[in-house]
Amino acid sequence: TEFAQVVEDQLDLLRRLREQRLDIGVATAEIARAINDGEIVPWYQPVVDLDSGAIVGFEALARWDHPIRGLDDPRRFIPVAEDSDLIVDLDLAVIRQALAEFARWLQTHPDLRLSVNLSARHLHSPDSAGLLMDSVTEAGVRPESITLELTETIAIDVRDGSIPRMVAQLRQAGFQVWLDDFGTGWSSLEQLLWLSVDGIKIDRAVAVALGTPVGDALTSAVTGLAVALGLRTTIEGIETAAQADRARERGCDYGQGYLWSRPVSGADAADLLGAVAVAVDA
Ligand code: C2E
Ligand code: MG
Ligand code: MG
Repeated sequence: TEFAQVVEDQLDLLRRLREQRLDIGVATAEIARAINDGEIVPWYQPVVDLDSGAIVGFEALARWDHPIRGLDDPRRFIPVAEDSDLIVDLDLAVIRQALAEFARWLQTHPDLRLSVNLSARHLHSPDSAGLLMDSVTEAGVRPESITLELTETIAIDVRDGSIPRMVAQLRQAGFQVWLDDFGTGWSSLEQLLWLSVDGIKIDRAVAVALGTPVGDALTSAVTGLAVALGLRTTIEGIETAAQADRARERGCDYGQGYLWSRPVSGADAADLLGAVAVAVDA
C-alpha cells in the first residue's frame, strides 16, 4: 500500500542518514591513519612565468592515495581535516614529502620555487615557525625557495595581533608568504590591511571571468593594488591561451592552470622540468 511505501522510504532515509553520520565520524580517524601510513601525498602543478611561459615553480597539492578508492580529491578530506588541528599534521606531512622531492629538483634547477598550502590554523600555534624551519633544514632547502600559501577556508581574525606577528616571523625566517584564493573570500581585502605578505594568488573565479568587463577590471584592480604595495601576483585556473594573454596584459606575473598542466605526480613533475626550459632568475 501507499502507507507501507511511505514508512519504508522513511526508514530508508533514516538508515542513510545514520550511515552518513557514521561516515563523518570515521573520516577524521581515517584521515589521521592515512597521514601516518603515508597515504596523503603531494602532487604538483607548475607555476609559469606569463611573459616567457617558463616553469618557475610548483605548487604541492594534497592527494589521498587510497588503497581502494584510488586518488582522492582534496575537497573530500581537507574540509574534514580543517575542522580540527588534524589539518596541521596533514599540511606538515605534505610539506615534508614535497620538500624531499623538491630538494632533488633544486640540484638541476636551483632557482625553482615550491609553494605549499598552509591552513590558517598554523598561525594560531606558536610552534609553527619552528616546525616549518625544522622541515626545510631537514630537507636541506633554504626557506627563501619556499612560498607559504595562506588558505582562507577558516575565517581568521587578522586583527588578533599574534597572527600578523606569526606571518612577520615566517617572512623574517626567509619564507615568502602569499594570500591564496584572493578575490573570493569576504576578508581578502581586510587580510591585506593587516598582514604584510609577498604576493597574492588570484582565485580561479576571477580567471574564469577574464574577457568580461568585470573580470578584466577586477584583475587590473588587483594587479594595480599589488604593484602599489610591491607584491607579485599569480592567477590560477587558467585554461585557455586567451585567458593567459589577457591576464598578462592586465599585469599578472605568473599563471597556473590546466592550459599548462593539471597537477601531476612527482615523477611526472620531474619530467615536465626536464622537458621545458626553466626561467633563469632575473
Ligand atoms: P588551491 O590551493 O587554490 O589550489 C588550486 C586548485 O585549483 C587545485 O585543486 C588545482 O587542481 C585546481 N586547478 C588548477 N588549475 C585549474 C584549472 O585550470 N581549472 C580548474 N577547474 N581547476 C584548476 P585541488 O588540488 O583539488 O585542491 C583544492 C584545494 O584544497 C586547494 O586550493 C587548497 O585550498 C586545498 N589544499 C590542497 N592541498 C592542500 C594541503 O596540503 N593543505 C591545505 N591546507 N590545503 C590544501
Ligand atoms: Mg594554493
Ligand atoms: Mg587558490
